[in-house]
Amino acid sequence: MRSLVKTLSEAYPHLTYVPATSFYWSPETSEVFYDDTKYDQASSIWSLLHETSHGLLKHTTYKADLELLHLEVAAWEHALALAHTHKITIDSDYVQDCLDTYRDWLYRRSLCPGCGAQCIQMDSTNFYRCFNCRTRWHVSPSRFCRPYRRSQTREQAVIFAEKHL
Ligand SMILES: [Zn+2]
Ligand SMILES: [Zn+2]
Repeated sequence: MRSLVKTLSEAYPHLTYVPATSFYWSPETSEVFYDDTKYDQASSIWSLLHETSHGLLKHTTYKADLELLHLEVAAWEHALALAHTHKITIDSDYVQDCLDTYRDWLYRRSLCPGCGAQCIQMDSTNFYRCFNCRTRWHVSPSRFCRPYRRSQTREQAVIFAEKHL
């Protein structure tokens, strides 16, 4: 992975690669953070290409959870093309697993903490409102690339389901 970081940072000088403890894209600073502790794992290379793709596609803001999911799909599609250029193969099951985890996470955010109905996010806000029991709840702004582990996804959903009556 380290040689790929070098290759990518030379190819895309407008992106800054920063060693960190997880993979994510920071649109504010045009920085790609990568987990340097897992440099020997194949999935690290795939994540690196994915975050790079967010940067190359100039992903900046999104207004709603659903839009974020579309950007995630676009970033993976771009990552597949980028992988081809660099003669790397990305496991498509891994991509699907990442996207499923995202869908799961977003689904859980949309469940009413009052009655469990699935609800729709209010336009361009971090609020959801229940059509059934009228509970309103706040979710933290969505971020690119949540951690991919399902158990963490569940915990986060619980934390985010802050109830506002
Ligand atoms: Zn409800
Ligand atoms: Zn992403």
